[in-house]
Amino acid sequence: MHKVKNKDVFKASWTYHSAPESTGHVQIKKKYDLYIDGKFTKPVAGTYFDTINPSDHKKIASVAEATEKDIDKAVKAARSAFKSWSALTGRERGKYIFRIARLIQERAREFAVIESLDGGKPIRESRDIDIPLAANHFFYYAGWADKLSYAFPNRIAKPLGVVGQIIPWNFPLLMAAWKIAPALATGNTIVLKPAETTPLTALKLAEIIHESGLPKGVVNLVTGAGETGAAIVNHPDIDKIAFTGSTRVGKYILNATAGTPKKLTLELGGKGANIIFEDAAIDQAVEGIINAIFFNQGHVCCAGSRLFVQESVADLVIRKLKDRMKTLIVGDPLDKNTDIGAINSKKQLQTIENYINIGINEGGEIYQPDCTLPSKGNWCPPTLFLNVSQSHRIVQEEIFGPVLAVQTFRTIDEVIEKANNTPYGLSAGVWTDKGSKIFHLTQKLNAGVIWANTFNKFDATSPFGGYKESGFGREGGLHGLKPYVTFE
Ligand code: ADP
Repeated sequence: MHKVKNKDVFKASWTYHSAPESTGHVQIKKKYDLYIDGKFTKPVAGTYFDTINPSDHKKIASVAEATEKDIDKAVKAARSAFKSWSALTGRERGKYIFRIARLIQERAREFAVIESLDGGKPIRESRDIDIPLAANHFFYYAGWADKLSYAFPNRIAKPLGVVGQIIPWNFPLLMAAWKIAPALATGNTIVLKPAETTPLTALKLAEIIHESGLPKGVVNLVTGAGETGAAIVNHPDIDKIAFTGSTRVGKYILNATAGTPKKLTLELGGKGANIIFEDAAIDQAVEGIINAIFFNQGHVCCAGSRLFVQESVADLVIRKLKDRMKTLIVGDPLDKNTDIGAINSKKQLQTIENYINIGINEGGEIYQPDCTLPSKGNWCPPTLFLNVSQSHRIVQEEIFGPVLAVQTFRTIDEVIEKANNTPYGLSAGVWTDKGSKIFHLTQKLNAGVIWANTFNKFDATSPFGGYKESGFGREGGLHGLKPYVTFE
């Protein structure tokens, strides 16, 4: 089998597509400390790590590395804040959460630029999706804080206590909002750790939380990598761990918390099936396929990374898909015209390139449009694979990059069988003109989130979460309150 080296696949040269978003109004410090007990505090061990811009490999800032002693301080602060925070009325808690939402809205542009600088995602996405959705999560859960008796009728819901929250690098501020807002609304206190490659918007959020006047110790923000996360997971005075990230780390946390009283929710990987029937509105479906896999460089746990297209329209769909892929602009995340930004880290780029080589070696037929990539930074062109089957690793395993595996099907039973045949159960999409097919598939597909004639639509009011190796527990909506309470 022909092994294609990356240099054969990727072309590299720099083109600027238009003037980039101004970064003049954005305040980024040179050095960030930990936010513990209402103060920015130096890490006990005195060590800092660099956060790097993935589009040019330049250092953006130094960020404190929290070790066990810092985690202990953060947990103690959260524990001592718990008593008074949980005793506040829901209305009082709601006011603080509302204030945080308003402050995010006020600083939305700044948040958007920092998110794109630190994480590599196109500014259009940070500006129109990540940041407004993060504010919406705070608004939404501010509204629930004084209505818990309606959320849980005939029962008295009590907060769990101190919750440890560990989040990934693909939607940094949004994931912080998903975690913090419902935990605060229900009266818990928090130790949160953002991912090591994207700590800056969470740190900015800590500044805003400080400004909101939230009592000290209610939210503590600790930065660092896996060891810092493990110190949170293993701290004996934490009541619950909420984790979003890879299935690999999720399994570690599942084992580490087994046999302890800690409660746990896990939102892990996925291998979403996007199913296109012959009766679908094809042009709309093609746009949906593009969005499903190339949104946020494919760094999306619910990405539609497997396409199932009904045989009778397969040639048409694939031709249109390739044509559309040719128009996608890969490049500077701060450029408003960019469709696909920088891959979040060198490590993730290697993972994606490795999977591309695996796909080729397993006999997949690769298609990548001829696009120019900047010379510095982490880049991957939009990629699709034809001629793949269920047993191929690129069909079974999460790649977390802009790589789509395309298969065809004839019957509805066949596609249900194939769609359900991975270790994951997070998301799926169905494109058809027939409501009856949508209802049938939503019954049969083993996925926590199923979209019909759309994809990657998120809303604070809707629950999100998976089955099988995609984890357990739900975030968003009324469902998102439940993992943070216990009942008298
Ligand atoms: P990767 O960077 O390999 O994709 P993840 O996406 O799972 O890893 O990382 C998600 C979050 O989990 C990050 O905040 C990361 O620092 C954290 N993490 C990594 N390893 C561990 C661990 N052993 N225990 C707790 N948290 C961890």
